[in-house]
Amino acid sequence: MLRPYNRRAGRCSLGGVSLQALLSRRVVTPQGIRAACVLVDGERIRAVVDVDKIPSDILVQDFGELAILPGLVDSHVHINEPGRTEWEGFYTATRAAAAGGYTLVLDMPLNCLPATTSVAAMELKRAAARAGSRVDWALWGGVVSDNRMHIEELAAAGAAGFKCFLIDAGIDGFTMVSETQLRAALPHVVRTGLPLLVHAELAGPVDRALRGLADEDWRRYQTYLQSRPDEAELEAIDLLLRLCREYRFPLHIVHLATARGLERLREARAEGLPVSVETCPHYLHFAAEDIADGATLCKCAPPIRGRANREELWSGLRDGVIDLIATDHSPCPPEMKRLEEGNFQKAWGGIAGSSLALPVIWTEAERRGFSLRDVARWMAEEPTRLAGCADRKGRIAAGYDADLVVFAPEEEFLVTDDRLHYRHRVSAYLERRLRGVVKKTFLRGTCVFDEGDFPGEIRGQECRRTGVASPD
Ligand SMILES: [Zn+2]
Repeated sequence: MLRPYNRRAGRCSLGGVSLQALLSRRVVTPQGIRAACVLVDGERIRAVVDVDKIPSDILVQDFGELAILPGLVDSHVHINEPGRTEWEGFYTATRAAAAGGYTLVLDMPLNCLPATTSVAAMELKRAAARAGSRVDWALWGGVVSDNRMHIEELAAAGAAGFKCFLIDAGIDGFTMVSETQLRAALPHVVRTGLPLLVHAELAGPVDRALRGLADEDWRRYQTYLQSRPDEAELEAIDLLLRLCREYRFPLHIVHLATARGLERLREARAEGLPVSVETCPHYLHFAAEDIADGATLCKCAPPIRGRANREELWSGLRDGVIDLIATDHSPCPPEMKRLEEGNFQKAWGGIAGSSLALPVIWTEAERRGFSLRDVARWMAEEPTRLAGCADRKGRIAAGYDADLVVFAPEEEFLVTDDRLHYRHRVSAYLERRLRGVVKKTFLRGTCVFDEGDFPGEIRGQECRRTGVASPD
């Protein structure tokens, strides 16, 4: 039986300490989903207690049947500031993140100018993030063709890890690395102890496919899909696993799109290689068969593949070969999507949608028999391991940051542009019916998203890794 609690939202001060209590019948903890009260002391969770053990004289926000999840962690976003803030910036991207239940985002080193491939560039980005981020943030550094002398400096300056491309990144300012260049960089990466995140597609299979597609109709999604075959991902994964075996560095495959890669990744793990894998909401929601010709909002690389492939990706999440889900939120001005022309060859590749990731995943996960516990593992806990902050973020547990999401799992909605919150309100998800609504997001104890509003000041802080040896 629940006691009648004071439903007044707010905080009270006990002995000079700011205490609040959030109560729900569905608190998603690492041990499972249960009725509990999350006691928040300032910015941290003091304890998670049974509902009959709530201290007296404390104001309780009773969320009833609404679920409370840990604040989500997005290990893959492109915020584009500085340099391309007209595409997206910290203020707008992190507004969308907060609306999506995210309390920590990790920004990719490309699509901004300068790219985050030197300490000077990182400091520029840091200044932009400090000025505009509504949620906590951390920065990936870039490994490009010619910056290996900067890798250890970037680590010492606070990079969470590194990102590189094995294929042309399709944007000025960030070069891909050849195998030779990557081999030259890897000893430096190894010395930092930080993970290397890799866009795993190789040019060979793409170039071969393109030769046969020159005269095809580029309004057709099938043409684009054929231009980025599974083999491009598979050959890249094989190369990376060989390098991982040789150099022994924490390898993270970003945005896995082909389920044909799962078997070799499973074997690599069985062998003990330090490899982790991510996929994205769009690969788990859309299917190539359903993408209309000219629908360039669905263009991303690697591409969204077929329906059977999508189901196998879900199996990869089920058996743990895929560790986590990140958004790869990658916006651009709408005109770059060439919506009127519908040409997949010319359109910008990238899907924006961090404000919708949780409903998208919950909609798909629930119908496949997963629970909110699984979602919290994929979207909060596992990303903190990659980001190096698993000791203080991503869990509802004593001592952790009070990053919390109040979520209505049974509520459905139609995606309209007022739900997007990022700079350019275009989305592949518009007009989709989704299940699960983010009601409130708390960042370190303070409400930063409240049913469409963004109360309070800019409070985002940099989240530095803990427990990683600094380079010698
Ligand atoms: Zn990306």
